[in-house]
Amino acid sequence: MPKFVIQKHDASRLHYDFRLEVAGVLKSWAIPKGPSLDPRVRRLAVAVEDHSLGYGDFEGVLAQGSYGAGTVLLWDTGTYRNLTQEGEQEISMERGLEKGSVSFWLEGKKLRGGYTLRRMKRGEENAWLLTKLPDAAAHSDTDILQSAPNSVLSGRTLEQIAEQDK
Ligand code: MN
Repeated sequence: MPKFVIQKHDASRLHYDFRLEVAGVLKSWAIPKGPSLDPRVRRLAVAVEDHSLGYGDFEGVLAQGSYGAGTVLLWDTGTYRNLTQEGEQEISMERGLEKGSVSFWLEGKKLRGGYTLRRMKRGEENAWLLTKLPDAAAHSDTDILQSAPNSVLSGRTLEQIAEQDK
């Protein structure tokens, strides 16, 4: 099963980096407000450069480099299953990403169930929207970012990582 990763990243602005393993790399989006469990909420996800698979295990403090700077907390990790369709036909993640619409089922420690990522028709080429699909893992009254803020790797907060790994 391909993996997914969400890294909470305290850079010049706090954001959540959402990454999906596709064809040997981590396809990546920066989500300023983070993922939501509420199917009525659409979160802006800005497509950024592919990251290496190995980077998906990273937690710590980045020195200024190609992947930016700041403190990185491994907020969620797990595997996913492609649900993307074109009409009745199942299509690959690569094809879906080209077309600007993918659906997938997450099996993470915090996030589960179906999500879609769609490229916005208007505005910037790299602007996508992440939305929860309405299934048993959907909740409209839980802010998972508030209720489960810490690392799934170490249990640490961003502040602890920044202090201990500097
Ligand atoms: Mn980032």
